[in-house]
Amino acid sequence: MTAFLKLLARNRLAAFGGIVLSIIVFLVLVTPLLGLQDPAATDTANRFLRPLSDGHLLGTDQLGRDLLSRLLWGTQLSLAVGFAAALIAALIGSAIGIVAGYFGGRIDNVFMRGIDILMAFPYILLALAIVAALGPGLLNALVAVAAVNIPFFARNIRGVTVSLAQREFVEAARLCGMSDMRIIWSEIVPNVIPVIVIAMSTTIGWMILETAGLSFLGLGSQPPQADLGSMLGEARNALITDPHASVVPGIMIFFIVMSINLLGDGVRDALDPRLKSGALTRPQPATKIDPTFNDAKEESNPDAVLSVNALETQFRIAKRVYRAVNQVSFDIAPGECLGLIGESGSGKSVTALSVMGLVASPPGVISGGDIRFKGDSLIGASYETLRKLRGNDVAYIFQDPLATLHPLFRVGEQMMEAILVHEKVPPADAHARAVSLLEAVHIPNAPERMNAFPHELSGGMRQRVAIAMALVNNPSLIIADEPTTALDVTVQGQILARLDELRRTRNVSVLFITHDFGVVAQLCDRVAVMYAGKIVETGKTAEVLDAPAHPYTKKLIACVPELGRGKGDLEAIPGLPPVVDKLPPGCAFAARCSKAKAACETGDVACHQHAGRMVLCHFPEEKWV
Ligand code: ADP
Ligand code: MG
Repeated sequence: MTAFLKLLARNRLAAFGGIVLSIIVFLVLVTPLLGLQDPAATDTANRFLRPLSDGHLLGTDQLGRDLLSRLLWGTQLSLAVGFAAALIAALIGSAIGIVAGYFGGRIDNVFMRGIDILMAFPYILLALAIVAALGPGLLNALVAVAAVNIPFFARNIRGVTVSLAQREFVEAARLCGMSDMRIIWSEIVPNVIPVIVIAMSTTIGWMILETAGLSFLGLGSQPPQADLGSMLGEARNALITDPHASVVPGIMIFFIVMSINLLGDGVRDALDPRLKSGALTRPQPATKIDPTFNDAKEESNPDAVLSVNALETQFRIAKRVYRAVNQVSFDIAPGECLGLIGESGSGKSVTALSVMGLVASPPGVISGGDIRFKGDSLIGASYETLRKLRGNDVAYIFQDPLATLHPLFRVGEQMMEAILVHEKVPPADAHARAVSLLEAVHIPNAPERMNAFPHELSGGMRQRVAIAMALVNNPSLIIADEPTTALDVTVQGQILARLDELRRTRNVSVLFITHDFGVVAQLCDRVAVMYAGKIVETGKTAEVLDAPAHPYTKKLIACVPELGRGKGDLEAIPGLPPVVDKLPPGCAFAARCSKAKAACETGDVACHQHAGRMVLCHFPEEKWV
């Protein structure tokens, strides 16, 4: 709750709306205590007195009634009717929506067709017809406004309920024998309440306007009782000669509706769980670069396709700083495959995303180092430069192809789009290239598969499509972030074989991210081991596998089961990696390391380099030195 209020307060417009509305509500609540004149007391001798006249702060109306008193009492009435109408519409509409959406079938049909009939009438006409049938009066106006708004709630809530009713937790509730009523109360209602609140907060203003509209037409509040709409209606004849009598209620309506709408938008944003961790802003198209940026110290390797030098990427959330990538350096030569390996949360994905500025900002910030692609620095490069490289010269493959492929487009269309974004070629050529690539990743029946939707393909097939898509523009670098983690081992083997074949025939460099040393051994020329945002060891795959120098690498390798090794215990690494906003001084692995000594827990960790290998450890394994 406090988090919700904080988010709301951070949104300036919503806070402003909230303050204005609170002032109005406060004034309305204390109206009976203010000792104002009787709002209905006429005094025809003093008609249309100007504002600031004696005894009448806002002047008087056409019958000499005090405008201030009428305004405050009228506002009270308008607000009360508006809120009541919104509440009634929300209650009845949501009840209809929940029942229709939950039970479905015939019940749904009957309810929703009824709602459709209501919606078939022009909105204000329906309200007028209801009032005409019931007779003029504020209560009847309330009924009319509530009734015409029921369909809005019913449709919204039905949609939400339909998708909720098929979710696993509802099935689980059914499985344990709960009655329908109980499921609706305990499973469905708590989940739709935020939606109802949001729908209400954005419609109250509109209902106050509608009630005022009916009163303006003389169908709502009846004289001498005043609400804002009837005040406007009665003053209408004197609009030119005595505008203040219309302007006063007009301004009040404006402030009420504006403040409710601003606040309603703020409530909607603050209730959105996706916005909870971040600010109320959309991520920028490229990762933010810290202006107090410290440049990389070392010269980068001019021959490398990708050269990352002392890269630092952080997430800054409120006062905490998560050092997800901390002084990471590596090079990838043309045609080389570098494996980046480490436990979950070690910063592999953030490293990969930093290369093309794809880390979401806020909260991500690149706060140091340099990234060079074919010699050109990508740090501080314009968005247009990055956009031209993305998907073109540098391609990404992600873990879950079902999440990266668009569910509503055929895979062929998506592949062709990837080509056409970067190149002006006739669609027929793009089509032919897409087919030949699907064949290259060994998809049987490629021309036919072009017309398949992602959900019609198996997981392995989808990942092959993702690989083919990464290749459409002949990239020089492919960044593959755990592309086989979601697949079973046989499919994983096939995918790795395809990737290996493609990179050798096309001379593509690959940055291959994984947490599995078995995969690294199959595919990668070199490997970099990452722990808590730092690379702790690099070297040729065979050498590292043969003689791991860092205790962490050694443990990681020991975690890979070997066929035929018998029933020996697999080693697990005790403890958990540190959270990167509270990194310990010294070596981050010290707490889990069996060889740690006092020296490991303070100061910088020694970096040993030797014949193309590097290890960040005070006490590397003896075999290596
Ligand atoms: P992995 O090695 O499993 O790919 P990541 O690179 O995704 O790990 O994450 C590295 C660290 O960055 C994690 O400790 C995670 O907590 C942090 N992190 C990643 N994304 C965000 C984010 N959007 N906000 C805050 N912290 C994040
Ligand atoms: Mg990851």
